[in-house]
Amino acid sequence: RSKSAGRNCFTIYDEAMSAELEARNTLEGDLRDAIARCQLEVHYQPFVDVLTGARRGFEALVRWRHPTRGLIPPDQFIALAEETGLVVPLGEFVLRRACADAAGWPSELAVAVNLSPIQFKEPDLFEVICAALADSGLPPQRLEIEITESVLLERGGENHAFLERLKGIGIELALDDFGTGYSSLSYLTAFPFDKIKIDKSFIRNLTQQPRSSAIISAIVTLARGLDMSVTAEGVETREEYERLKALGVNFAQGYLFGRPQPIERILFDAPAKSSRLDAA
Ligand code: C2E
Ligand code: MG
Ligand code: MG
Ligand code: MG
Repeated sequence: RSKSAGRNCFTIYDEAMSAELEARNTLEGDLRDAIARCQLEVHYQPFVDVLTGARRGFEALVRWRHPTRGLIPPDQFIALAEETGLVVPLGEFVLRRACADAAGWPSELAVAVNLSPIQFKEPDLFEVICAALADSGLPPQRLEIEITESVLLERGGENHAFLERLKGIGIELALDDFGTGYSSLSYLTAFPFDKIKIDKSFIRNLTQQPRSSAIISAIVTLARGLDMSVTAEGVETREEYERLKALGVNFAQGYLFGRPQPIERILFDAPAKSSRLDAA
């Protein structure tokens, strides 16, 4: 009895596995088509200066407009894109789109682009970034590159030299999702970051958990000592914003200031504090 049950289990497991594999293959094929047919979209989420509340730029976040499944968020396809190498053309598309869009914004606004560790293995990534800047006319000072520490874990030496090259032409470097993963403090001194982005898990319940405040306050002190700025991600409430302001965080990003939106939905007229209006 137990033998046949075991065999049945095995069959079911096997079928479930091949179904999963098939679904994966379909998704991979679909993603390949999506890149070729321009079904990927770049949405933009603002980040603000905590002291003044003025918008300072937008983070570019990719979405997949799937013909039958609707709008798919990146958490559902970036891992697959990384495993299959498709994140290379995907990443180049996002970078080019973001630079081209940002070139048309008021000049005080920056654009932040996420790079996958897989893209760092491409020998021509530096040229790809330079070409995106040159073709769009966006000054390098208005481009921020966001990476997670996983980029630094592997190939630390080579990637260090690469980040120095980016910084050398004026691009800003941000360490994304700080506080998750290993978050070795040695990364902060060893690599030339301009900005630390504190992961949104520390912002959640910030107002209820004194421990989160202590961590954020320590990161702010550390960043100041290293001449870096600090962004808080995932700010959703007024209370969180006030708390972050009191803690000395420089920039904030989150639903409180705006969700990621297609470029057509972003309005550039409003802020009276913009340098453009000041100049006028
Ligand atoms: P990330 O770079 O840390 O981006 C921030 C994520 O937090 C975004 O999720 C954003 O929509 C979400 N978020 C922003 N404000 C709030 C908030 O107030 N509350 C909550 N709960 N969430 C908020 P999204 O767009 O789903 O992107 C997820 C991740 O996918 C990104 O995390 C990034 O790691 C990756 N990703 C997105 N676009 C790209 C891309 O073009 N290339 C690569 N390599 N990765 C990307
Ligand atoms: Mg990011
Ligand atoms: Mg993040
Ligand atoms: Mg993330």
